[in-house]
Amino acid sequence: MAEIKVGPLESMLQGDGTYGSYGGAYIPPVLEEKLNKLSDFFEQEVRKGDFQKEFVKLLKQYVGRPSPLYLAKRLSDYVGSTIYLKREDLNHTGAHKINNCLGQILLAKRMGAKEIIAETGAGQHGVATATAAALMGISCKVFMGEIDAERQALNVRRMELLGAEVVTTSLGSRTLKDAVDAALGYYIENPDAFYLLGSQVGPHPYPKIVGYFQSVIGNEARQQILEEEGRLPDSIFAAVGGGSNAIGLFSGFLADKSVKIYGGEGGGSGTYPNTAATLSFGKPTVFQGTNSYCLVDEEGNPIPSHSIAAGLDYPGISPQHAYLKDTGRAQYAPITDAEAVEAYKLLSRLEGITPAIESSHAVAYAIKELKDKKALAIVNLSGRGDKDVEREDI
Ligand SMILES: *Cc1c(COP(=O)(O)O)cnc(C)c1O
Repeated sequence: MAEIKVGPLESMLQGDGTYGSYGGAYIPPVLEEKLNKLSDFFEQEVRKGDFQKEFVKLLKQYVGRPSPLYLAKRLSDYVGSTIYLKREDLNHTGAHKINNCLGQILLAKRMGAKEIIAETGAGQHGVATATAAALMGISCKVFMGEIDAERQALNVRRMELLGAEVVTTSLGSRTLKDAVDAALGYYIENPDAFYLLGSQVGPHPYPKIVGYFQSVIGNEARQQILEEEGRLPDSIFAAVGGGSNAIGLFSGFLADKSVKIYGGEGGGSGTYPNTAATLSFGKPTVFQGTNSYCLVDEEGNPIPSHSIAAGLDYPGISPQHAYLKDTGRAQYAPITDAEAVEAYKLLSRLEGITPAIESSHAVAYAIKELKDKKALAIVNLSGRGDKDVEREDI
């Protein structure tokens, strides 16, 4: 068996952070200077051999990469297609988020940052960031809405155990959007802080940075399926919140026109406005620093999203996914809360693998799309589902 090459895709370094009419940086002048500096530093640093060496070493020794590409036989028989699962749930800390956190923390360290700051909703990005900060010995503040901090008490404890300080905000709806605003405010006032962003959202250069670091997923998956099956898959599937695990997988196959690409959004109840399916129900809008789709009301103002999956519960979306949707290269559909819960239970029983409720959206989409197709497919299992076991609504 050929050795799988671990690392990000060079192709993700192309471009200036615009994706058709989407992307860019819609930010106040005080942020412009900082983000230009970050962009320049990123472009130089990641092209250096010693950066790549350090990143790849961490991915292998600390995260446990490459993550397996697993042929799910009983699921395949049930569906009537050949389905492989890309096992990001087996990464250290239990999801794909650590890939991006390690890449960004290496940038932070090399930029001489004295402090890492991050925002978190459910606490998953906060825990991954606190983990990376502990690993590097850099102090860490995680901003959280008050309501989220109450709902996610276990993750607050985990972050504190890892040495991070959790800063709660009582502004606005006291959830993720307000945590982002609080973190941005702190970032503007503290020149030695590095803002470690958790998904493929926000102003340039973040979508490019996050997309690049997560491309380790698709780079491996493409090598692995060729090794196992001797051909490319007919289709690939991922859950889409902000879009980082999805772009991670998709990036490996964007140039392979024969591969169909599907993103499952947090559909909530399945109808607007009780949904987090931004690409399905949103409109192109400038929101939190970037131009992309966003869930809005009749006046065009952003509205809160609703999904059973905290990791998908965001009214914005990656500008690259907006572009992939408009150009038809990828298709996106809402997967309802009920469909995700069914897939969560089904995969547990058929394979002995409990997926995160977020990842269950990808599994549910694949089951619908692949029924009796006899197709070859990859589903990105973005995280493990232990965190969801005790929930009464699941
Ligand atoms: C955070 C999270 C997501 C959603 O975030 P993306 O940036 O869209 O990938 C999906 N799955 C899991 C397990 C998560 O923790």
